[in-house]
Amino acid sequence: MTQKGNIGVTTENIFPVIKKFLYSDHEIFLRELVSNAVDATQKLKTLSSVGEVKGEIGDTTVRISIDKKAGTITISDKGIGMTEEEIDKYINQIAFSGAEEFLEKYKNDANAIIGHFGLGFYSAFMVSKKVEIFTKSYKENATPMHWSCEGNPEYNLEPCEKVERGTDIVLHIDDENKDFLEDSKIEGLLKKYCKFLPVAIAFGKKKEWKDGKNVETDEDNLINNTTPAWTKKPSELNDDDYKKFYEELYPFTSEPLFHIHLNVDYPFNLTGILYFPKVKSNLDLQRNKIQLYCNQVFVTDSVEGIVPDFLTLLHGVIDSPDIPLNVSRSYLQSDQNVKKISSHITKKVAERLQDIFKNNRQQFEEKWDSLQLFIVYGMLTDEKFYDKAKDFVLLKNADNQYYTLEEYKKLIEVNQKDKEDTLIYLYANNTEAQHAYIQAAKEKGYDVLVLDGQLDVHFINQLEQKNEKTRFVRVDSDIVGKLIVKDEVEKLNLTDIERSELTTIFSSQLPKLEKADFIVSFENLGENSRPIIITQNEFMRRMKDMSAVQGGGMMNFYGEIPDNFNLVVNATHPLVKHIIKEKSENCDDLLKPFTAKIETLEKDKSDWNVAHKDIKKEDIPAVENEDLEKIESQIIEQNNEKRKILENFAKSQNTISQLIDLALLSNNMLKGEALDNFIKRSLDLIK
Ligand code: ADP
Repeated sequence: MTQKGNIGVTTENIFPVIKKFLYSDHEIFLRELVSNAVDATQKLKTLSSVGEVKGEIGDTTVRISIDKKAGTITISDKGIGMTEEEIDKYINQIAFSGAEEFLEKYKNDANAIIGHFGLGFYSAFMVSKKVEIFTKSYKENATPMHWSCEGNPEYNLEPCEKVERGTDIVLHIDDENKDFLEDSKIEGLLKKYCKFLPVAIAFGKKKEWKDGKNVETDEDNLINNTTPAWTKKPSELNDDDYKKFYEELYPFTSEPLFHIHLNVDYPFNLTGILYFPKVKSNLDLQRNKIQLYCNQVFVTDSVEGIVPDFLTLLHGVIDSPDIPLNVSRSYLQSDQNVKKISSHITKKVAERLQDIFKNNRQQFEEKWDSLQLFIVYGMLTDEKFYDKAKDFVLLKNADNQYYTLEEYKKLIEVNQKDKEDTLIYLYANNTEAQHAYIQAAKEKGYDVLVLDGQLDVHFINQLEQKNEKTRFVRVDSDIVGKLIVKDEVEKLNLTDIERSELTTIFSSQLPKLEKADFIVSFENLGENSRPIIITQNEFMRRMKDMSAVQGGGMMNFYGEIPDNFNLVVNATHPLVKHIIKEKSENCDDLLKPFTAKIETLEKDKSDWNVAHKDIKKEDIPAVENEDLEKIESQIIEQNNEKRKILENFAKSQNTISQLIDLALLSNNMLKGEALDNFIKRSLDLIK
């Protein structure tokens, strides 16, 4: 008997909805249909194991084939099949009144085996103009049935000839989706979605080269590994197995550092293996991603929102039937199960790291450089992870020694507290460029950390916030005597006038550098220190560094302003001493009359100010205002005369430019024309 009827959809036609709106990715149809086939096969195996299906069940490989001429794809299984009633119940009756309700119903259905993907069987219509089912139930004396439907609510159901138990789904691919009839396309999709399905999946036969031709062999072209490592017990696997599985997931990637085998069955179901990758570049990080599976069916490799951000740096597989799929990301993020899973994974990851740190500190240190980015990222973005990781996060110093936060604190406590009792952590972010500063600090008995990681600017801020009386100072942010201010530093014996004259001399010989301003100062750094040292204020530099990492807003403002450097002249260095002496001998007599004149003028100015102290601005007679202006312009004039003398002197002293350039050079700041001039001058000097 032939049955004709209408598929139980109250909306006039659900098919356009299926085609256009429900799935943005048409390719998902294959995942759905193969999953159904696998499901049916597993149900059969279960029934057989409890004796409900008698006898041998035979080969249960699910086979996918393409008939290019007919324009069809067929998915065949040897599973339980369906009786007429079952087709009626499972295929014909889609009880819903609208697409929204339909989605609503399915998204909460977490218990269906693979079926909770959404539309399941009907996704076939995303790519087909006609779908046929040929099925024979495992039940004794079941009549094989043929169902067909052409993408409208009408279907045909009638008995047919089918000898073997199981189901063949035949898709008549529509014109817009002809590309799915390509072998390579289907094989690619099967490899993507079905690589680890629990039942063997075959796509045609294996091919081999014979007599210069690619010929088919008798061997099935199997797509999947039915027992991937994560489905096994950790006790059944050794290190090598984990490495092999990693290679299976990400061919041609360097060996991972460690793995974590996840295995939870309460209060939710979760299995998986996560790997800490060996990070070589940012590119590696983006290429390989955690893959999410649901009962061994690949779902997605964009796990953002499902696991905390920093965990997306890990590799591996998470498999959970408890993660609701095909729902929006925002829904996922607020889902209680997902939240629990996420914090569980975070906890496990922290515990595993803690474990390696405790039991194999050496290995942990060896791998630290690769682990660092991940751990610091986690600490910055996840409070709970910070609390755990603070006990095993490592600091590396300039001698390549590793310390925990606690250990490092103990190391520097004695020597590196300033007079306010703040513990000063000295650090370098480029050991080559900052070599001289590191040496100077070490000679003072200080220890210097290396903080050159991408996120270290932020990490430093975090550590300062979390730990009272803790400050990080980069070794080149001040002269060594002032990095950690203990007592008042020894004052230099220079009068204000001398200081200002010397400042004019040194400033005049600074080469013009783009986006860099200098403030010249004089300090007593001792005879053995360098004659000139360039430093950069910690606060401003850090703001600029952060603006480089983040960009935008207030941070952008810091990026725009020029770099401010301190040019610290060591007035006790013999060469500088000599310059000061020369300046006295050559300039002081010339300067004296101007200095005296300026002194008198300054006196006149302050007298004027005293005399007019209580008079309102607008009540001061114009003549008297003119008097003041005259005094001021004379002061400027006299100062200009002084400057001329000082600049002439500076120009005559090669050593001044030479010392400045050497300081710039050691900071890698001498470039272009300035560098050229320096080389010419150096050659002249050794002539
Ligand atoms: P779901 O799999 O989510 O239940 P589907 O629309 O994919 O939704 O399938 C509906 C039902 O049809 C399945 O639950 C199953 O009972 C039946 N079915 C689908 N495909 C097969 C198959 N290949 N073999 C046996 N039964 C099937």
